Amino acid sequence: MIVDSHCHLDRLDFDKLDIQLPEVLQAARDKQVEHFLCVSVTLDQFPNMLKVIEPFKDVSASCGVHPLNQSDALNKSELLELAQHPRVVAIGETGLDYYYAKDTHQVQQESFAGHIDVANELKKPLIIHTRDARKDTIDIMKAHNAQDCGGVLHCFTEDWDMAKKAIDMGFYISISGIVTFKNAVDLQEVVKKLPLDRLLIETDSPYLAPVPHRGKTNQPAYVQDVAYFVADLKGLQYKELAHATTENFYQLFSLANRSNQSSESI
Ligand SMILES: [Zn+2]
Ligand SMILES: [Zn+2]
Repeated sequence: MIVDSHCHLDRLDFDKLDIQLPEVLQAARDKQVEHFLCVSVTLDQFPNMLKVIEPFKDVSASCGVHPLNQSDALNKSELLELAQHPRVVAIGETGLDYYYAKDTHQVQQESFAGHIDVANELKKPLIIHTRDARKDTIDIMKAHNAQDCGGVLHCFTEDWDMAKKAIDMGFYISISGIVTFKNAVDLQEVVKKLPLDRLLIETDSPYLAPVPHRGKTNQPAYVQDVAYFVADLKGLQYKELAHATTENFYQLFSLANRSNQSSESI
């Protein structure tokens, strides 16, 4: 069995997919996906996101504000309150994105620091989004003791040096469908070096559909394509990769409800 460690189920375009959420999740379960972590990107939409996933026991939630949605200062007390909900197993996605947003560096940094403080206070791991901000990301993680709560650098596309620094702080690295892209040669080299006990896989759906689904709306079922590709890259059997990334997921997100124990048997 495998896990989609990062998806945005409340943002799927069901008209485009031509099926509704129960069918989307079932299609993924049919591809051996046993759990989904649905990631929050704004506090305003968080209550609705919870409502959307509520009926599905194999879906966990995170709570946080995406760095590209961070136009105002973070409402830290609101985050602290919302993130205490029992379905919330992680804080984020937070982090720094200097690729798209050139003029919000300071507000992103303050928000990121605020998320780390809340994660430490609630003892829930962080989901970190980082793009073109290697040094500042690591510096803020260190300054705010992110090693205490731990977490993951999700949809990782940076270099080995950054991955190593995060791993040395006890963090995990999550790989999305980007790794399957033809031009992702540098990232593929990084993935070959990542220790298996630090690795997670994700879709980040509805964005970034992996090969051979490029151009389509991404969905959690496609995490299996990521798993096959990463296994191949690392010279592992699919089953080994599936088992390791699933165990890693529950190790990190220890509050996630593991209803399906069958991954123990493979
Ligand atoms: Zn992200
Ligand atoms: Zn995301």
